[in-house]
Amino acid sequence: MKDALSLVEAAEETLRPLAQARNVTWWESQIDASAENERRRAETELAYSDALADRDLFAAIGAARSADGDVMVHRQLDLLHHLMLPHQVPDSVRVRIVELEAAVEGRFSRHRGVVRGMAVDDNEIKRILRESDDSDERREAWEAAKTVGAAVADDVRELARVRNEAARALGHRDWFALSLTVDEMDEGKLLETLSHADRVTAEPFSRWKSALDVRLSERFRCPVSELRPWHYADPFFQEAPAEGSVDLDPLFRGKDVVALAQRTFEGIGLEVSEILGRSDLFPRAGKCQHAFCIDVDRGGDVRVLANVVDNHDWTDTMLHELGHGVYDLGFDEELPWLLRTTHLVATEASALLFGALAGQREWLERVLGIGSGEAEQLESRLRAARAAELLAFTRWVLVMTGFERVLYANPDGDLDRVWWELVARHQLVTPPDGRQAPDWAAKLHVAVAPVYYHTYLYGAIVASQLRDALAAAAGGLVDRPEAGRVLGKKLFAPGSSVRWDRLVEQASGLPLSVESLEREVAAA
Ligand SMILES: [Zn+2]
Repeated sequence: MKDALSLVEAAEETLRPLAQARNVTWWESQIDASAENERRRAETELAYSDALADRDLFAAIGAARSADGDVMVHRQLDLLHHLMLPHQVPDSVRVRIVELEAAVEGRFSRHRGVVRGMAVDDNEIKRILRESDDSDERREAWEAAKTVGAAVADDVRELARVRNEAARALGHRDWFALSLTVDEMDEGKLLETLSHADRVTAEPFSRWKSALDVRLSERFRCPVSELRPWHYADPFFQEAPAEGSVDLDPLFRGKDVVALAQRTFEGIGLEVSEILGRSDLFPRAGKCQHAFCIDVDRGGDVRVLANVVDNHDWTDTMLHELGHGVYDLGFDEELPWLLRTTHLVATEASALLFGALAGQREWLERVLGIGSGEAEQLESRLRAARAAELLAFTRWVLVMTGFERVLYANPDGDLDRVWWELVARHQLVTPPDGRQAPDWAAKLHVAVAPVYYHTYLYGAIVASQLRDALAAAAGGLVDRPEAGRVLGKKLFAPGSSVRWDRLVEQASGLPLSVESLEREVAAA
């Protein structure tokens, strides 16, 4: 048997070029969605996934993990184990999961709901739910958004059964438990954190939502008791409706959003010009319409894809993606390749921390350059809007996470009923009378990003903790190079050499806790 160090070195040598090829072809398929690029992407994805399925390598890692040895080598063995574990299932199961995911995803992209006799896409449904004052039209749009659920529900249940089969073959209770294990998350701690988040948001959410409902009942000319899911601003009420929030777009019209983002990071002593030079930032035909940041080689090749226009949302997004980017550039160069990466909770926290700046008074004054009088007028409304966003989002995560636990505990249960019970309990939304439909299956994440939603909530919580810690250590974030140094040293540099929960504690001075969140939502 190879010694542990040569084992991790050999694994790196195999995985590194495959991962890099996969990242490059992924990038190319996103900036130019040609059939050739898609074919190459699928090819490199398969090669990488085959390497992770290598049974001999996995067995050798397992044996080396149970022996004593160097801490850093052991850490790499742990990460390799987590990375490879979900791929160690019979090939037939692996293929079945990929097929079902592709089938569901394909149906999601082809499916169009119908409103007033016309096939409509998601953007049109969202537009109606934002703009229409006609309850009947809104109801039709909302119902149209759910028809995809009925089309995929059987496959999503089957996916849950097959994923459970895979998890049990690997010695885990179900897919929910397996997913948490490979993400180094403790299930008991997760449930405790979620129920704590539930407790601290229940009262402020209920207060905020009562006020919202009064405004909605005026807008739609109906009593509060007649408000239904289609009266909120998106199909799942996952975002705070515009009522009561602040429209910052006029402040950003005509501004150079990329330059503002660069200026923000320079003020903190973090260099982003190399990232921007490698990036693809503006809308163009044939290109992915969303935004992401990718670390191609864990050696400095970090790129952002965006579709920047001069508004608040895209400024938030640019800061968000560069918040991922500076993290990737900040890994200690001495770390081995396997550790020059980080947990999703940690990088998402960095991204959310920077993205939120575009809605904060200090940034608007110092970086965007609005007058201090205007900034002062905006401040309390900005704070309230931020609290409302966090409240709506937290309650929505409670629905999603609660649902997924039940889904994997029993994929054959009465999921339609479970879904509406959770929506009524956490989001205080009255279900449509007599509704019997698989509305849970209309959320794409349930099928293709399983057991992931809690990561967003954790990221938001850690971002709040970091903000508090930086206020104490450096007086804030905007134009404080000391804040950049603290983030670089305590959060970015360690990469994956420490577990994410210890990293959070080290960077924010506290273990993950909902106290910062509790303070922020109190402003609603
Ligand atoms: Zn992100």
